[in-house]
Order: sequence, then structure tokens, then C-alpha cells
Amino acid sequence: MDAQDDLCLIDGKLVAGNDGRAAVLNPATETPCGHYTRASTAQLDEAVAAARRAFAAWRKEPWQQRAALLLQIGARIEANAEALARLVVLEQGKPLALARGEVSGCVAWIKSTAAMELAPQTLEDSPRREVTLRRQPIGVVGSITPWNWPLMIAVWHFVPALLAGNTVVMKPSPLTPRSTLRLAQMASEILPAGVFNCLGGEGELGAAMSAHSGIDKIIFTGSAPTGRDIMRQAASSLKRLTLELGGNDAAIVLPDAPIAQIARALFNAAFINMGQTCIAIKRLYVHEAQYASLCEALQQIAAAQNIGSGLEEGVTFGPLQNAMQLERVIELVADARAQGGKILCGGERLPGKGYFFPPTLVGGLANGARLVDEEQFGPALPIIAYKDPHEALAWANDNDNGLGGSVWGDDLEQCRELAAALECGTAWINTHGDVLPHCPFGGWKQSGIGVEFGHEGLLECTRAQVIHLRHAKKT
Ligand code: NAD
Repeated sequence: MDAQDDLCLIDGKLVAGNDGRAAVLNPATETPCGHYTRASTAQLDEAVAAARRAFAAWRKEPWQQRAALLLQIGARIEANAEALARLVVLEQGKPLALARGEVSGCVAWIKSTAAMELAPQTLEDSPRREVTLRRQPIGVVGSITPWNWPLMIAVWHFVPALLAGNTVVMKPSPLTPRSTLRLAQMASEILPAGVFNCLGGEGELGAAMSAHSGIDKIIFTGSAPTGRDIMRQAASSLKRLTLELGGNDAAIVLPDAPIAQIARALFNAAFINMGQTCIAIKRLYVHEAQYASLCEALQQIAAAQNIGSGLEEGVTFGPLQNAMQLERVIELVADARAQGGKILCGGERLPGKGYFFPPTLVGGLANGARLVDEEQFGPALPIIAYKDPHEALAWANDNDNGLGGSVWGDDLEQCRELAAALECGTAWINTHGDVLPHCPFGGWKQSGIGVEFGHEGLLECTRAQVIHLRHAKKT
């Protein structure tokens, strides 16, 4: 262990993990940007035991007190915003402006969530009975997070869980653990011991969490195959699950859409975080009459990107986060070429160190090509021409994923009709990818189970309890 290593948080103490030390790579240079230590399964047991002990008192804290402590964590994040944003860039790769946005988004999200409440609900108040529905915390919540938005997704998991009175054991992605472990360190100075625990570790530790009899619920954000593994592992203890999985969001641009006005918004929604966002536009359907003009407008925006290390001034487009993801994008673009796809721009990894792949637009494909049917999770966007909007709708829905989708056009009635027919958890009109703390968010089909955010998301951090009082008969 080194003094600079990011430590695990177990029962209020920062400790080195006993399962070895690992480097975290800077994706812009492919060299280590720091180290973290992996927790052993014995340390997972300790963290779960600490969380169970802490649960007894934490659940009894007044709601407002829990909210106040969470707001203090938000203030601590705000006070350390620049250092956290730079750490996110170092390990995740995104441009600094986007990382700053991630950190300020965390602060805003905590403020908004901490203001929410769950009041008991009277179901019946009659001479015969009084029946009340209360929401009780579930217990120990295990949180497993991915590498694309390491701080934001951590906040999405632990804030509602703690607010509702649960305690948490979190495991960030081994590819981007440092910013989350740093966040845990800040939380450790504010929260009672054991309320929030955070462990470095790989997939095996996530599997051990999913199977752990001391964890009552798992909130997971990541890929669909891992989501299925978690569901299997969680079955033995019948854990509650919220699964936010992959997406393959379609955007349908209607014939009356003002291409020049919307091209930048489409580009940003497709390439945000170099396309490594669950709700990025991953398939773009445009009417054949506007196909050429949209391709041209997007090509111009792609050509204007400044590609480089996220810490460099003026850079708008960083590297992919890891070698595996880069290989996947290279493979899908090669397959698109082999299927007759036309590379309109980009298409090749940049030479030299770093996982750089430029924004890539691919025309001439149809449903059935891998780049259209599978989640690329990277900067390669297929643009598909259609003749009739209902044909585009059918193609958009012809996919196992159902996270988000969007419709773009001037005729809002037509937009509303098509949006309502999209098979996905959020259907946007004239925008794509906006997630808000007061709006429930979750995937249909293979994109997940349950929702996060808003009142409904908070409910998923609770279990329902009915208090049923039978009035005595008056004699
Ligand atoms: P991943 O599934 O590979 O890993 C996610 C986390 O799961 C990591 O912490 C990993 O260590 C852990 N893990 C791996 N194997 C495990 C197992 N068998 N049991 C338990 N945990 C295990 O996902 P990723 O590559 O980090 O993230 C990219 C994916 O996440 C994409 O598919 C993307 O669409 C999805 N995603 C979804 C949302 C959403 O809200 N729906 C948000 C962000 C990312």
C-alpha cells in the first residue's frame, strides 16, 4: 500500500483492502493514474455486518436529520469540486468541462433528492377501521456501479437509499474506483460509522455482494449480462433488485424537423461522454428526404471536435474509457463496413497512446446490422434512412432494449403519438437524454427492472407496511 492509494471505507474507517493492490489507468495515456486496493470477501462480511449494526439507529433518525447529513455531503462535494472533477477526468477520460458538469450535477441531485419526503398514506378511516400505508426502509442496500459516470451514478444509488433509512455497501467499477472511494472518504467524515461503506473490487466482489445473505437489496447499473448474473446470484436470498441496464436508444427525426436547428442537439445526445452513456442516441432514423442534409450537418460538427486528453484546454472529445470498449467499437465499425455501411467520418482508432476513437458516422445500414442492433456504447453512430415514420417506429421498437428513445419534429401531435408508441421507459420529444431528479427513470424489456429517481425511485428504496387498526364495536 502507498500513502496515495484510495482506501476502502468499512465501518467508518478507511482501510486497505486485503485482496491486493491494483493500478487504475488513465485512458488518455494508458499509464497508471493511481492505485486502489481490493477488499476481500471477509472484508465484505465486515462491511455488511457494520451496515446491519448501523441500520438499527439510522432508520430511527428523523427523516430531516438524514436529509441534513446528505446535504452536508453535497456541500463537501461542492467544496472539493475541482479536485473531484480532475480525478474523474484522470480515471474516466471525459473532458474536464463534462467532469465538472458531473460533479455539479451530483450536488444539485443531492439537494433535490434531500427535499423529497414519503408521508404515510391513509387507505381507510372509517368507523370500522383505520388503515395506513407506511414506507419502511429495507435494510442493507448493496450498490454496484459502472465506469461511465462514476460519481453521478454513485449519488443516484446511495442518496435515495440513505434518505429512506437504509444503510449502504457500495462497490464501484474497478476501472474508475478512485473518485467514488474519494467520495466515500468525504462521507465518512459526516455519516455515523457503518451507514455508508465502500469497497474496491472486481466483478467477483460484486457477485459475492449479490449472493450475500446480509444484503437485502441490490441497486445495479451496468450491462445486461451482468444484470442477469446478479439476478441469478440474488435469487437464493430473494433480494429486491433495481437493475439499470444497457440501452440502444433510437431517435426518429420526422420529415418536418428543422435539421439545421437540431443537428447539434442530436450530435451531443449521441456522442455525450464519447457515446459511453446508457441513454445516448445509438441509432438515428431520419426521413430519406433529409438524410443527406442531416449527415452533412453532423459531419461538420464531428469535424470540429477537438480530440485529446480531457485535461487539455479546449478538448471536447476524450478517449474511450478502456481497451475492451475500444476493441468493441472497432469490431462493430469493421462489421458495419463489411455489411456495406458507408463510413461518413472517423472510423479508425487514432495512432499513438490512449484509447482515442474519433466521432464516427456510418450511413447505408439497416436493422439487422450489428452496429444498429447491438449497444455500441461508444462514438460510432449509424444513421438510417426511412420512407414512412411508422416504418421508423417499427424499426426503433425492433430491439431487445427499451431504455430511452426520442422523436424530433415540428408537429407536436405527431411527435406525441409516436413517442407514446416507443417501447421504452423515457420517450423524449425534441430532446434526448435529459434525466431529472423528480422524474422516474428506468428501462423496459432487457434494459432493466424498476426505476430510480423521483417519488417512484424513492419508493424502491422502501418496503410497504400496512398498519391496520380494527375499531372496537360500540355497544
Ligand atoms: P458491467 O456490467 O461490466 O460492470 C458494472 C459493475 O458490475 C462493475 O462494478 C463490475 O465490477 C460489476 N460486476 C461485473 N461482473 C459482476 C457480477 N457477475 N456480479 C456482480 N457485479 C459484477 O458494466 P460497465 O461496462 O461498467 O458499464 C457499461 C454498461 O452499463 C452499458 O451497458 C451501459 O448501457 C450500462 N449503463 C446503464 C445505465 C442505466 O441507467 N440504465 C447507466 C449507465 C450505464
